[in-house]
Amino acid sequence: MAIQSSVPTFVGALACQRNPFLSKEFKTIVLSCEPTKKKAQYLVELKDTILFPEGGGQPSDSGNFLVPSTGEKLDVFKVSRNGLHAMHHVNGFIKPGTEVELNLNWAQRLDYMQQHTGQHLLSAVLEKEWGLSTVSWSMGGVPTDKKPIIDPSDVFNYVELNRKLTDDEISRLSVLCNEYITINPQKISVVERTADIQVNSEVDASKIPDDYDLSQGILRTIYIGDLDANPCCGTHLTSTTQLGSILVLRSQTSVRGTNSRLYFTCGSRVWKYASFANTVLTLSKGLLSCGEADIPNKVELQRDLVQKTSKKEQYWMKEVALSETEALIKSIETSGQGFVVRDENGGLDYLTQINKDLTSKLSSRGITDYKVILCGRDKHLNSGVMMILSNSGEEIASIAASLTEIVSTLKGGGGKKGGKWQGKISDFKKGEWESLVNYLEAEF
Ligand SMILES: [Zn+2]
Repeated sequence: MAIQSSVPTFVGALACQRNPFLSKEFKTIVLSCEPTKKKAQYLVELKDTILFPEGGGQPSDSGNFLVPSTGEKLDVFKVSRNGLHAMHHVNGFIKPGTEVELNLNWAQRLDYMQQHTGQHLLSAVLEKEWGLSTVSWSMGGVPTDKKPIIDPSDVFNYVELNRKLTDDEISRLSVLCNEYITINPQKISVVERTADIQVNSEVDASKIPDDYDLSQGILRTIYIGDLDANPCCGTHLTSTTQLGSILVLRSQTSVRGTNSRLYFTCGSRVWKYASFANTVLTLSKGLLSCGEADIPNKVELQRDLVQKTSKKEQYWMKEVALSETEALIKSIETSGQGFVVRDENGGLDYLTQINKDLTSKLSSRGITDYKVILCGRDKHLNSGVMMILSNSGEEIASIAASLTEIVSTLKGGGGKKGGKWQGKISDFKKGEWESLVNYLEAEF
């Protein structure tokens, strides 16, 4: 049972919400510590906290507790909200009544505040300039258990709007948002209201979660100068200048009929993405020997060239396969047997083509008694493919046994009642290819 030694500060009035720039050495008291269903995980409630529990589209903070009296350190990997209570998920037991020092993963928090506050500004400008309401928003670039590593393209957040923006509107939106960051900065402030003060008409309280008891809690309203007022429990920057920059993408995604997702990113993510994009562009310019603007044209030309070359290769491969098949037929007509051995580019597609041509020609010429070996090697990979073709299942089994003795990694099957046995060689050992060629030349 939890030991309560004091009254907790409710979500809405937490230290992280009242001063989001508190980041380390925050002293407080452990009120309760309960084991969870997960091994070595505990839920801790503190008298107050600088670690924000998830809410308002902003993910949870992470950080650690330091126990000054013992020097012990516990990791806080998540903070969740349970009604009015902030619950810290930690990796060890800590006795209620203990004084702890809290430290926040500040780089992560600052990033989250930049994205979150950036969304407030972007949505405010969309509303003011075009009367466009934000239907919903989602923060990108948040590691999860399923995807702990963030890809460069994951840095984008989106707002869902009830229509797509034009290219001109996106340019205008970018200029306006960045003007609020550079030449026309706005102070960001928060007003706290308790239940005994009526929520006035400028604030939409409909987005407050159902499990948040407003009669005991606090309604927080964030103001961006006189541009915007919104109820929000998250942590925010104190000035739009702290956003650094906002990048809005032109490519949008259609959702739910005519709605559209508009992608953007803020703060340090902008220069980090620019740096990544520059690396990719520099490499591409070098590979294609052209300037940035020519990269799409060059890639298109290369793609067309590959398609044409591939068609040509297919044509010549079929021609060579047909020629080898003609030679095989002559050999079969003379001795009832034959082989094809191709030291380079003897892939499965090539052998399959010969098998197809051969089957057709054997049938049209009424040849029913035959034994043929098709073998190819990929010199670069040092691997190969093998086909044994015969009307006799016994012949196939006998030849397969002989070949397996020569090539140690040969594995295959089929043709028990005659037809085709097919196998793969994962790795030719030293001298095996030469021994195989000698065997085929001597026996076939
Ligand atoms: Zn907010």
